Amino acid sequence: MPESLQPELIELRDAMERFACDVLKPMAQSLADGTLTPGDACAQVREASKTAGFFTMTQPAAFGGSEAGQLALTVARDTLAAYNSPVSSAVFGPGPGVLAGVDEPLRSSHLEPLLRGEKRAAFAFTEPDDAPHPTQGVIDGDFLIINGQKSYVTGGANADFINVLVTVVDQGPAMLVLDRDTPGVSIERTFESLDGSHHAAFRFVDAKVPCARLIGKPGEGLPRAMRQIGDTRLAIAAGAVGQMRWVLDLLTEHLSAAHASGEPLGNREGVRLRYADLRIKAYAARSMLYRTARLADSGANIVNEGIACKVFSTEALGEIVDTGIQLVGGKALTVGHPLERLYREVRALRLAEGASDVLRLNLARGRLELGKGTL
Ligand SMILES: Cc1cc2nc3c(=O)[nH]c(=O)nc-3n(C[C@H](O)[C@H](O)[C@H](O)COP(=O)(O)OP(=O)(O)OC[C@H]3O[C@@H](n4cnc5c(N)ncnc54)[C@H](O)[C@@H]3O)c2cc1C
Repeated sequence: MPESLQPELIELRDAMERFACDVLKPMAQSLADGTLTPGDACAQVREASKTAGFFTMTQPAAFGGSEAGQLALTVARDTLAAYNSPVSSAVFGPGPGVLAGVDEPLRSSHLEPLLRGEKRAAFAFTEPDDAPHPTQGVIDGDFLIINGQKSYVTGGANADFINVLVTVVDQGPAMLVLDRDTPGVSIERTFESLDGSHHAAFRFVDAKVPCARLIGKPGEGLPRAMRQIGDTRLAIAAGAVGQMRWVLDLLTEHLSAAHASGEPLGNREGVRLRYADLRIKAYAARSMLYRTARLADSGANIVNEGIACKVFSTEALGEIVDTGIQLVGGKALTVGHPLERLYREVRALRLAEGASDVLRLNLARGRLELGKGTL
């Protein structure tokens, strides 16, 4: 539970609250009145976060990071998200992702510059429904010749390299590091999704890449890619739980305030029933999140519990924001209202990093076929 934290985690939570109040809140104001651009605001947040010691929490100790455990990361993310800041994504530094544990030459050429913030990476997994074949690599001496497409690569247009899932012919799926400027790698289109994030669709035509750019061995690509996606699930759940708390605080204030009908909306039983349902879901989501983070820190396999947290918290958050808008009324849909922004932002969470129903199927398989998962 979030209540029984060790003293150092209480300290972390309090420090994160001070950071949100002293750094993020004024920054949000500067963004709103146009005195700072989003890029400048994020750069300032990054520097302040490095000074405060938060930036490296997501980075391995072997690379100078403080490599926080799952419970510490959960406390930090939940606390941060409860401030609903538009620049909170700049607080944590990039983690190694699928490059975790790579040896030379990838360690020096890509992993280290990534963690130092000198190179940007993107993750290319999803393919177009009408692709003639999955992205494939044919071995040609010390090189791989890559052909195929990836349809939804977040940050792809600004990335220095993309980590691509390819099927190495006769050997199986592999993750491969592909520099963006490799001849034969082109961006077919760029687009923005409802949440405001930016993506690119890629085409690879006879792109020639050294085999040394393979991450691990052919055949290991799918579990490696799935692990990268899996590792983000608790982070997504922690962010969602913090955002729920932000919405519920706003709603509590709204339901207690004067209303055009002559009495606060919170006096009405029908409204109270809805409000109580939202609180029940937020309580359940926060409880399962902290329990799962503790399980992860104890060394348990939390694949199924992480799925449960991601599905439950993102679906509950969607409902909480939606009902929140309904209870606040028309002004919540005014462009620029924080609930309007949140409504757009949270919709993507039920698809990105694993669509809810696909995760449900994985969870059922985890129990029925593999005997995994706790209650
Ligand atoms: C904001 C955002 C960022 C993203 N970033 C990236 C990225 O950086 N890299 C990347 O590779 N991809 C990225 N994606 C793509 C994302 O991973 C996919 O959208 C997601 O996995 C769903 O795949 P799909 O779009 O191909 O839809 P589909 O796989 O066609 O799924 C659509 C729906 O069909 C149903 N469905 C699908 N499969 C099954 C099944 N086996 N059984 C039952 N029902 C099923 C589910 O209801 C599912 O929601 C991003 C998506 C979003 C929205």
